[in-house]
Amino acid sequence: MSLHWLLICHGMITLTIVVSFLCGQWPIFQGTPISSIHRFLTFGAYRHFLKFIGAVFGDRGTNLVLSVEYYCCDRANPILQIIYLAIIGTTYYIVVKTSFSYIPGHYLSEVHRYGSFLAVAIGLFLFLLTSFSDPGTVKAENVSLYLYAYPYDNLIFTKKECPTCKIPKPARSKHCSLCKRCVARFDHHCGWMNNCIGERNTRYFMAFLIWHFLLCVYGTITIGLVLAGRVEESQIVHILIVYYGVDNSVRSLAPYIAQWLVDAHNTQILLMVFLAVVSLLLAGFFAYHANLCLTNTTTNETFKWQDYITWQKKGNEAHAALGVNATGMTREGNPEESKCKSFFGRFLLQETEVVVRKNVYDKGFFHNIYEVIFPFSTRASFSQTKSKSD
Ligand SMILES: [Zn+2]
Ligand SMILES: [Zn+2]
Repeated sequence: MSLHWLLICHGMITLTIVVSFLCGQWPIFQGTPISSIHRFLTFGAYRHFLKFIGAVFGDRGTNLVLSVEYYCCDRANPILQIIYLAIIGTTYYIVVKTSFSYIPGHYLSEVHRYGSFLAVAIGLFLFLLTSFSDPGTVKAENVSLYLYAYPYDNLIFTKKECPTCKIPKPARSKHCSLCKRCVARFDHHCGWMNNCIGERNTRYFMAFLIWHFLLCVYGTITIGLVLAGRVEESQIVHILIVYYGVDNSVRSLAPYIAQWLVDAHNTQILLMVFLAVVSLLLAGFFAYHANLCLTNTTTNETFKWQDYITWQKKGNEAHAALGVNATGMTREGNPEESKCKSFFGRFLLQETEVVVRKNVYDKGFFHNIYEVIFPFSTRASFSQTKSKSD
């Protein structure tokens, strides 16, 4: 197999594994190999591992693994934070080790030595800011303000009390069982940040995502330019044409240049593939959350809407079974529906969602962005509401 195919395979396998692990549970992948790989990576492999431990070390071994699992998955812990720091630290160290000796180079000025350090430092700052900022904790002192800021829509949010915090639950809030607190405009609990993403820190989280996406793109391009500079400085093209009689065309030269680069700079090539794959993932993740911000929805609410729509559909189907198709929104179910059809059917379902969803919190593009950048609880009017309600 030629070298560039090997690199393509490496990129595809890395991409499949990373996407399956991180995104395989998304509804869009349901019933696809991505979801099967996700199940294997998250539960299947673990089940086999538990069986293996049980067979070799007995109950004591199994109990030890289960207590580690409890600590890692059911309690707030800094494991993923440490992994993030290890990834960013190791990646930057490898970049410095392998590429800084070529900067300044043919295509890059010295500014990238300091620019890259600054870019990583800003990334770390955004990480710490998101990790340690208050996501918008709902407490007895501020619950009345949050109840006022986020009225109930009586569709997916109705008047309730948090059974743990023993305070009313404002609309859009959720009790995080890991952080053991109610969080306003709860999006999700982020393991990487070991913090909830909520009303007050969604803006930092978004800045973290876009910055890390740009950081990966910057890294990929910079390393690419280092390698292009190496090709230029080593006069590889000249040597190939003059001494090896290779045709002076991109088509003829490219495989030899790729071969030389993989031999001489394999670490940088692997690093480029890694950064490109991570940048794609971050772009997808950012796009998903940007869409939520622009429509004033949260990850938590997308699940709630799914439940609501399923519940509505069931209601409609029950009506249809009784011969009363009041809304005309039910679709003809076909038991022989092919897998392909059911896959695309999920997109059709979104059309139904558009019809059914009445997101009262969506106040338009600019208002929604404003609400993320300047959350209610950071505005002067928020505390003024308190003096009014007192
Ligand atoms: Zn609570
Ligand atoms: Zn949490």
